[in-house]
Amino acid sequence: MNKIKLIYEGKAKKVYETDDPTLAIFEYKDSLTAFNAQKKDTMQGKGRLTNLISATFLKLLQDKGIPTHFVKLLDDNHQLVKRLKIIPLEVVVRNTSTGSLCKRLGVEEGLDLVPPLVEFYLKNDELGDPLVTEDHIRAFCFASKPQVEKMKELSLKVNDILSKYLYERGIKLVDFKLEFGTDEEGNIYVADEISPDTCRFWDLSSKERLDKDRFRKDLGNVLEAYEEIWHRISQPKAAIQKRYEAKLFIYLKEGVLDTQGKTVLSSLHSLNYPEVQDVRVGKYLKITLNSPSHQEAEFKVKKMCEDLLVNDLIEEYAFELEEI
Ligand code: C5P
Repeated sequence: MNKIKLIYEGKAKKVYETDDPTLAIFEYKDSLTAFNAQKKDTMQGKGRLTNLISATFLKLLQDKGIPTHFVKLLDDNHQLVKRLKIIPLEVVVRNTSTGSLCKRLGVEEGLDLVPPLVEFYLKNDELGDPLVTEDHIRAFCFASKPQVEKMKELSLKVNDILSKYLYERGIKLVDFKLEFGTDEEGNIYVADEISPDTCRFWDLSSKERLDKDRFRKDLGNVLEAYEEIWHRISQPKAAIQKRYEAKLFIYLKEGVLDTQGKTVLSSLHSLNYPEVQDVRVGKYLKITLNSPSHQEAEFKVKKMCEDLLVNDLIEEYAFELEEI
C-alpha cells in the first residue's frame, strides 16, 4: 500500500490517500502541541510511540467487538486505516476529575466519577473546541440522535475495555477523547488515535502522570512517560495483587523448658488461680503482604516462617490468613 497524496496535515499526524479509495495511511509525527497549538515542540521518537500505542489499543478494541478504523500497522510511524467521514464532535469520557472539568466547574481534582462522565465537544480549532450539549448537537445537526446514542454507548464500552486492560498493567485511565467517523453505509467507527496525546494515564500507586500532561505542565520526561506506557501495554498483564493479613503465633515446642511461662504460671498460682495447669509464652506477629492468591500467600508466609522467623529446633508456629 502506497501513499499517493497528502489529504490532511494535523498537529500530530499526516493523512494520505492510497491506491484503494476506501483506505488511508496515517503518519504519526514527532510534534507535540497543547492548548490549541499555542505550545509546540518536537520530540524525536514520539510519533513512533503514539503510532504503536494507538495501534495496540485500536486492535484490542477491535478484538473485543468495537468497530474501529484500524486496519493494520505498516511500520513504526505508519498505520493503515479505513477512510471515513469524521463526525465533527470529540467525545470525552472521564473517570476521575481533572483538567478542563476542574477548571470549568471549580471542582477538586482526583474525585472518582461513578458512573463516568461523557461529554461532547465541537471539533473547531478557531473556537477552541467548545463543550456542547445534546440539544446543541440536535439543533445544529452536528450529529443525528442515533449517532449520539451510538457514540455514547461505544465510548462507555471503550472505557470499560481500556480501563480494565490498563488497570492490569498498573495504570489508571483517568480520561480520554475519542473521535468517530462513518463509512459509505453510515456505519459508525472509532476513528483517529488513542494514545498518551489523547488520554490521561496515572500510575496506579504513585499517581505519576504518564501522558501529555507532562508536556502541558512542563513536568519533564515526556518521552520517557510515553515509553513507559508502551512498555507496560506491550507486556502480558501483571498478576492482580490482593492484600492479605497473616496473624502468626510462634511458641516453644512441647517439652522445651519455657522459663518465662513457668514464672507466669507460679505468679498465677500465688494469685490464687490454682486451676491453671500450664503457661507457654510465645510471639505474635501481624504481617500484611501482597499476593495474587490465598494459596500463594499461604505458601509465602510458611516459607517466611521457615526461612527466618521460627527457630525450628525449639519453636512451632501457626497462622491465620485473611484477605483484607
Ligand atoms: O482538557 P480536558 O480535561 O478537557 O481533556 C480531557 C481528555 O481529552 C484528556 O485526556 C485530553 O488529553 C483529551 N483531549 C484531546 N484532545 C482535545 C481535548 C482533550 O485528546 N482537543
